[in-house]
Formats: sequence, C-alpha cells, structure tokens
Amino acid sequence: MRFFYILILLIFFNCQENKTNNQPVIAIHGGAGIILKGDLSVEKEKLIREKLDEAISHGYEILKSSGSSTDAIVETIKILEDSPLFNAGRGAVFTSQGTIEHDASIMNGEDLNAGASTGTMHIKNPITLAHSIMTNSEHVFLSREGAEEFGKLENLEMVEQEYFFTDFRLNQLKKEQNSSSKFGTVGCVAMDKNGNLAAGTSTGGMTNKKWGRIGDSPIIGAGTYANNKTCAISCTGSGEYFMRSVVAYDVSALMEYKNKSLKEAVSHVIHKKLPSIGGDGGLIAIDKNGNIEMAFNTPGMYRASIDKNGKKNIAIYFE
Ligand code: ASP
Repeated sequence: MRFFYILILLIFFNCQENKTNNQPVIAIHGGAGIILKGDLSVEKEKLIREKLDEAISHGYEILKSSGSSTDAIVETIKILEDSPLFNAGRGAVFTSQGTIEHDASIMNGEDLNAGASTGTMHIKNPITLAHSIMTNSEHVFLSREGAEEFGKLENLEMVEQEYFFTDFRLNQLKKEQNSSSKFGTVGCVAMDKNGNLAAGTSTGGMTNKKWGRIGDSPIIGAGTYANNKTCAISCTGSGEYFMRSVVAYDVSALMEYKNKSLKEAVSHVIHKKLPSIGGDGGLIAIDKNGNIEMAFNTPGMYRASIDKNGKKNIAIYFE
C-alpha cells in the first residue's frame, strides 16, 4: 500500500515538473499577399528579414527567461508595430480619408480571456491596448474614441496621427485608389514554459478602407484565437473571407471536435475551405504539443519561427 502512495506522489510531482518544463515555442507573421520575388528590392528584403529576426529573438528570450506567452506576444508585436515595414502601428495603411485606424487583438489560451480594439488613431502600440482591455477591463472588445479613453486611463503611450504617416503607405493609397490590394498585418503565437498558449494580431486593416470597415484581425475567433486544449492562431489575409470562415476558431474546433492534427486542420481551412469562397491569405499556429504550422494560399507570407529545439526559421516565399 505504501508503495502505491509513493508511486502516486511520484507521478504527481513528475506532472507538476513537466508543466513548468516545456520548451518555449514562438512564431510570427508580417502579412501574407502578393509578395513576388523581384518585387522586393534586395535592400528591403534584408530589412524585413532583419526585423523579423529581431522581433522573434526578443520574444523567444522573454519565453526562455520564464516570461508568459502573453508578455512575449505583446513585446514581439510592439517591435513589428514600431517598424514602418509592416501594416501595423507606425507602418499602418491609410483609410480612404487619409487617416490611420488600427485594429488589434490578443487571447490567452490558459483561461480563454481576450482583449481587442478597433478604429483607434492615437495609441502608439495597439497591441498594448488589446492587452490592457484583456487584463484590466471587464470587456473584450472596445472601439474608437471609447477605446482610446480607456487607453489613456491605462497610461498607454499616445501619439499624434502624423507619427503613423509614411510616404510608402501614402503612395500605396494613391495606387490602391485605382488598383489591387495587398496585406501586411503582423501577428504572433507563443507557448511559454508552463505550456500556456497565446495569440495576438495587429493591423491597419486594408488600404483605402472606408465606412469604418473592420476586418478579421481584432475579431476573436476570426483573426485570433488561443486555447490550451488545442492551439494558438494568428491570421492575415482578406479579412472579409476570414470572418465569414471564422478561420482561427475553425482550426481549433476541427482539432477539438474532430480530433484533427494541427497540420490537417490548418491545411483544410487554408487550402480548401477559405479558397472555396474566394479568400486568400495565411496563418501561423502552434498546437498544445509545441508543433508549428505556417500556411498560406498566396505567393508569400513574411514569417519566422523558433521551434521546441531552438531552431530558427525566417522565410518570405515558398522556401
Ligand atoms: N486581415 C487584415 C484585414 O482584413 C488585413 C491583413 O491581414 O493584411 O484587415
């Protein structure tokens, strides 16, 4: 009998140990879209790869030093938001009115808590607002002036609209007013040493958007989702289709209710379901065992990951 009790205790302590002994895993994206080899100058491609490297390495260090997956998401996305290279924060695209309106969201897979904001114009780092809404409010989704008012109460850094105006995006707006569309949203998924999953996404939306248009990125279940039982997901692409396909939650639901692997679930949604209604884009994902998937049905997606063996991968096209 005593042997039996000792065995139970050993199993219990072993489980506790494993709970805090996961190898951290992290993945990021900087948008999917029509990124063709030759479109990017050598110099610009180098800058993008360096920024992806800087962001993912920073997030990984946070996880390595026992930071939470949500902290890693916020700090990693902040680096991408501060860069004019991506369609988020500083580099966000213009609306048809020549303004910048940010959307962001974050979700914690441990307790299914979430925070999101849309249409903010002065919060320097929209992902910090989403995080504050998640942790310090009783709400999930705040919009426009109200969201900014809450951000001020939270002492988040505010800036003038001009801070976000870049020549590159202004030229893109002028072109877009006559032609096709591109993406460039940023996102991050992470698993910390406790095995907790989290996901976050931040964007300026679509160039030339009007009428207060909101895409999938700030919508929990469409552009962002995390659940420790299944996976963490951040999407990028034609938001209208991602909302109609409830992409992020659909991947999780296929795993939870149909026992699909992460790979099978992601492949079904990105390569079958989404294109069947005309949607294009991609997503990054980590499952509860630390497996990574980065899939897209466009020519390219800016992306980077560090797996459970510490192996780093940075890519743009099908490589
Ligand atoms: N999904 C974003 C939106 O529709 C755009 C993007 O991913 O670039 O607002």
